[in-house]
Parts: sequence; C-alpha cells; structure tokens
Amino acid sequence: MQNDFSRRPGRHFLQIPGPTNVPARILRAIEAPTIDHRGPEFGELARRVFRDIKTVFQTTEPVVIFPSSGTGAWEAALVNTLSPGDTVLMCRTGWFATLWKEMAERLNLRPIFLDGDWRRGADPAAIAETLAQDRAHRIKAVCVVHNETSTGCTSRIDEIRAAIDQTGHPALLMVDTISSLASMDYRHDAWGVDVTVGGSQKGLMLPPGLGFNAIGPKALAASQKATLPRSYFDWRPMLAANAEGFFPYTPATNLLFGLAEALTMLQEEGLPAVFARHARLAEAARSAVRAWGLEIQCAEPRHYSNSLTAVRLPEGHSADRLRALILERLNMSLGNGLGILKDRVFRIGHLGDFNELELIGTLGGVELGLRMAGVPHRAGGVQAAIESLAQDAAGWQFAAADPAGKATG
Ligand SMILES: *Cc1c(COP(=O)(O)O)cnc(C)c1O
Repeated sequence: MQNDFSRRPGRHFLQIPGPTNVPARILRAIEAPTIDHRGPEFGELARRVFRDIKTVFQTTEPVVIFPSSGTGAWEAALVNTLSPGDTVLMCRTGWFATLWKEMAERLNLRPIFLDGDWRRGADPAAIAETLAQDRAHRIKAVCVVHNETSTGCTSRIDEIRAAIDQTGHPALLMVDTISSLASMDYRHDAWGVDVTVGGSQKGLMLPPGLGFNAIGPKALAASQKATLPRSYFDWRPMLAANAEGFFPYTPATNLLFGLAEALTMLQEEGLPAVFARHARLAEAARSAVRAWGLEIQCAEPRHYSNSLTAVRLPEGHSADRLRALILERLNMSLGNGLGILKDRVFRIGHLGDFNELELIGTLGGVELGLRMAGVPHRAGGVQAAIESLAQDAAGWQFAAADPAGKATG
C-alpha cells in the first residue's frame, strides 16, 4: 500500500458509474465568484438554466432543481404527490430500487414490491397484471428506476407506459433517471412520465449536489391534494420562485454555473450524438467482457445499460479484491457490487465526459488487473473493444477521406 504522500504520476481514472469525471470547462465555470442569488445576474442565469434543462428531460414541463443529492429528488417526487398510507407499485430491479422502496416505507407509504432477479429491467406485464387486479385504484403511483446503476440493466419506460395505459389505471408514473439522464435517450413527455427524478453527478458531468424533478401536469394536480408532510422539498414555493428566476432559499449557486456550462456542452455536441457516443462506448465495453469470457450481469440484451456495465466474477473470486488491487496499483476506481451483488460484480462506468481512448485505458486497466489478481479470463478484451470501435468508425474514415463531402455535410 502506498502512503498518502507518495506521488502518483498521471491522472486518476474515476470509472465508477457516478460521480463521473467533471470536465475542466465545468470546473472553471464553478470556480467563478459566488453571486447574489437575489440579484439580476442570478435571475438571468436561472432563467436560462430552467429553460435549457428541459431539453435534457425532453419535456416542455417545469423542471425544479434542489440543492440535494439524487436521494433528495426521490423524496421530493414522493412527498409532493402522495398521502400517508397510499399504495405505490415498485419493482425490485436492484439496489437503488430497493433504497427507493425503503424510503417509501419510512414515509408511511405502502409499497407493493414486484420481485426481480437483478439481471433485467422491470417487467411491464407484471406491472400491468398488478394494476389490473387493483380495481379500487388503491395504487397511486408506479415507481421505476430507468437505469439500475447496481446491475447495468435498464427498464423500458415506453413499454411500461403502454402497459399502464392498456389497463386504464390512473396511477402516476415516476421514473428515476439519475444514472441515465444525458447519457441514454429519455423522454419525459413522449413516454407520459408524471415525475422524472434526476441528479447532477452522472451523465450531466457535474459534481454531486443537485437533484431534479421534471413535473408533468397530472403530478402537479396530485400535488395540490397530497398530504404527506413536505417543507424543504415542497414544489409550490419552488415553482413560484422559479417563475421569477429565483429560488425560495439559497440555491447551489456555483453548481448552477456548472450546470449552465454542462448544458452548453450538451448543446454543442447535440443530444443524439451524446446518446450515440454512449451506445458506441458501451457496446465496445461489452465486447471486451465477452472476449474475457466473463459474464455481463444484465442477462437481457434489450435491457443493456449504455452508462455502465456490471461484470460478474467467476465463482470463488472476489470482485472487491480485484477492485482494491486495481485502485492500489493502477490508480483506477471501479464501482463495487451493491446489496446481493456485493463482492460478486465490479461495475465499469462509461458515462458522462468520456471518449474512446479513455475507454481503452479503462479496459486496459481492467484486463491488467484481472491478470494481476489471477482471475481466470482470456486475454484480448481490449482488442475486442478496439474492433468494435473500428467497425463503428468506418463512417468517420469516409468523412476524413472526403473533405468536400464534409464541407457540404
Ligand atoms: C446514484 C443513484 C441514486 C442516488 O443518488 P444520490 O445522489 O447518491 O443520492 C439513485 N438512483 C440511481 C439509479 C442512481 O444511480
């Protein structure tokens, strides 16, 4: 073990699925002197952020921003729309879904928890079946984690929406997009989501500290009648102040500077390109895992996450020992196994401000670590990732060889 004072050349690889690497542009934006959050300069900043954040949620509805972690935004979604004793339908897709369910219990809600094996997303048919049996409409909300960060499995929100509609059940649909927002296509309006929950420290490339709720009209109507106690997370004073470009209490001003820069960066790249980049890098990461002969935790290819890959270790091998070795020797942090996956999987974060060369470096670190730790695997994972990226790059070669085409394109 190196002591705390030894120099570590090169940069740390922070390849956990959030917090993600914060780009220098955003760090510089955050560094600006804090301004008066009741002054005109702040109002201008806030109005721009409130407008542009909507594009990331693909919504025209209001998005509120709390100075909180993602967990606070979960709480805000529940306390603003529900009343003590309300039944909510939740899906045990993994660790984060389990934490949200435990929060619901502490808030005096009554969750029905549909079981799952942590190897795929939520089952739309099981949701529809449960709703169809609930003829008295006791279930007030269906809560789904879009991208289960503990497993690397996504839930198909479009299919879940269709399943709910098919039953005609009036329950609200609330979705956690904390680790998919700005990395994977997510459509608050088109998918008829009533509350979308987000956080700053994953696809949005910011440090931790901002929580988001995108609020649809049905959720807003529910918030007028809901009776769970709420204060700090109350949407009403927040929406009223936001309409004037301000907050009801001191906002995380410097993180909002960073958010404005992040939104500019996402606009410059274009959301479709951002999603395509994540898809390309994720597919290359999965190619590496397959070449190593290791198993991807997500067993349903339609549910593969583009923001992270959870990798199972062969029986009898410790994922935590592998991660500790990679951190100590290679200065790279990988995500740990959570809940029932503790010590069984490691997770590679490939989201946020991340590119091909960083992926190759990350996978190189994993492959070297597998060897150093004596974990049985085949060599060639990095090569397989390069093959995957090269196939995708065929179009770029064409563009580079045809500058005239590029000029008109
Ligand atoms: C990170 C994460 C959370 C928790 O967010 P915090 O900011 O740690 O409170 C919740 N849900 C998902 C899916 C996450 O990835």
